[in-house]
Amino acid sequence: MSKKLFLIIGAPGSGKTTDASLIAKKHSDSIVHYSTGDMLREEVSSGSELGATIESYISRGALVPLNIIIDTIISAINQAPVPNVLIDGYPRSVEQMKALDEILADNSDIELVSVIEVRVSEQVAKERILGRAAEAKEGEQRSDDSVEVFYDRMKIYTDPLAEIQEFYTNKSLLHVINGERTLDVIVEDMDNFIQSKI
Ligand code: AMP
Repeated sequence: MSKKLFLIIGAPGSGKTTDASLIAKKHSDSIVHYSTGDMLREEVSSGSELGATIESYISRGALVPLNIIIDTIISAINQAPVPNVLIDGYPRSVEQMKALDEILADNSDIELVSVIEVRVSEQVAKERILGRAAEAKEGEQRSDDSVEVFYDRMKIYTDPLAEIQEFYTNKSLLHVINGERTLDVIVEDMDNFIQSKI
């Protein structure tokens, strides 16, 4: 089955995972959603040796190595049960962007349709992340939702952003969504855009 791929990028706390999962839930017969962070955390929960390696990066807010993240997303796309795939949290570096570009050039079964950027200010991102940390139940806290790690994650997101935006703008693939509105409005906006492309 050939696949249409939508990448969703956004700062930690932008809401990208929530937005994408609501859209996939609404159209479960045609759209599936994978979050790179969730897929990596699942591997960590499995207790595998690979999971332990992954956790050593996640807990510091650092990016996991290229080969691990590439394997994770490509197997998710290939195994997707429906033709439209939303992946949030990729690419997070110029290296990841170029690696995917090369893979797509050799693979006519996967079409990158759009890169959706959910844009929020650093202030809003920080308030949401620290709010999430304060609300998390005992045992459900994320190892990376703390003020210290927030700034590292924000910097890792922001550093390559201009180059990523430029790359996809030149391919006419970048679509920016204002992520500072209410959840319902953002989801409706993103959903309408995705529906117009599939
Ligand atoms: P997230 O849930 O999207 O905030 O991701 C949580 C953590 O998972 C990140 O801070 C990274 O350690 C790791 N991660 C998620 N996506 C990627 C990616 N594309 N490349 C490398 N590491 C990632």
